[in-house]
Amino acid sequence: MGPQGAGKGTQAQMLAERHGLPIVATGDMLREIALTDTPLALQVRAVQAAGQLVSDDILAEVVKARLCKNDCTDGCILDGFPRTLPQAKLLERIAQERGNRIFVIRIYVPRELLFKRLAGRRTCTVCGSIYHMDFKPPKQEGVCDLDGQPLFTRSDDNEEAIQQRLALYDEMTKPLFDYYGQTNRLYKVDGTVAPEEVFKQIEEIVKRESNQAGESRGMSEE
Ligand code: AMP
Repeated sequence: MGPQGAGKGTQAQMLAERHGLPIVATGDMLREIALTDTPLALQVRAVQAAGQLVSDDILAEVVKARLCKNDCTDGCILDGFPRTLPQAKLLERIAQERGNRIFVIRIYVPRELLFKRLAGRRTCTVCGSIYHMDFKPPKQEGVCDLDGQPLFTRSDDNEEAIQQRLALYDEMTKPLFDYYGQTNRLYKVDGTVAPEEVFKQIEEIVKRESNQAGESRGMSEE
C-alpha cells in the first residue's frame, strides 16, 4: 500500500517475478473494464478520469471474481486494493475462506516527490511496464523496451486528478494503516530510494513472513 506514485506497481512486478505470484492490480483491471463497450465501462471511465474511487460494490464483484481463480490459491500480490475499510473487511472474509494470510507493506514517499513521479509516468499499453521520463526513460521515446508497444500517459495522471487522488488516499486509505497495525500485519519501507533498494527491504519482510508462516504450520502439524 502507498499513495499513487509510491512505486507499488513497480515493486509488485519485481515481487511477482521473484516469487511467481500473480498481481491483482485493481486499477489495471478497472482500466481494462473501461475499454469495453458496456454501461459499467462508461461509469468506470468517468470515475477514474476524475481521480475518484470506484464504488465498493463494483470493487467487490471484480475482486471476488479474480481472487477465486486458481492462480491465486497460493496467494497473490494485491496492488491498489484494499483502499477503504469496507474493502479491507471484504478481503478479510475472502482470505479467511481461502485459508490465506494478509500482510501489508506500506511504501512511504513524501508528497513533493510523488508529484514529480506521477507527472512523468508512462505505461506500456500491452505489458503494463512502467517508465518515467526523467528517472527511467525507455530506450526509444514512447516505446516499451520489452515488447516495442506504445507507451501511454494515464488519464488520471494530470495535476487536478493527482490532487484529488492524494486527498482521497489521506481520507479513505490511510485509516487502514491503523486497522492493519493494530493486528501486527503492517510493515513500512522507505520508498524514496532506488527501486532495487526498496525491493531489498520488501524481500526482508517477505522472508520474515514466510518463516512465520512455516513456524505456525509446523505448530499446527505437531
Ligand atoms: P491505480 O492504478 O491503483 O492508481 O487506480 C486507478 C484508479 O482506479 C483509481 O484512481 C480509482 O478510480 C480506481 N481504483 C483502483 N483501485 C480501486 C479500489 N480499490 N477502490 C476504488 N477505486 C479503485
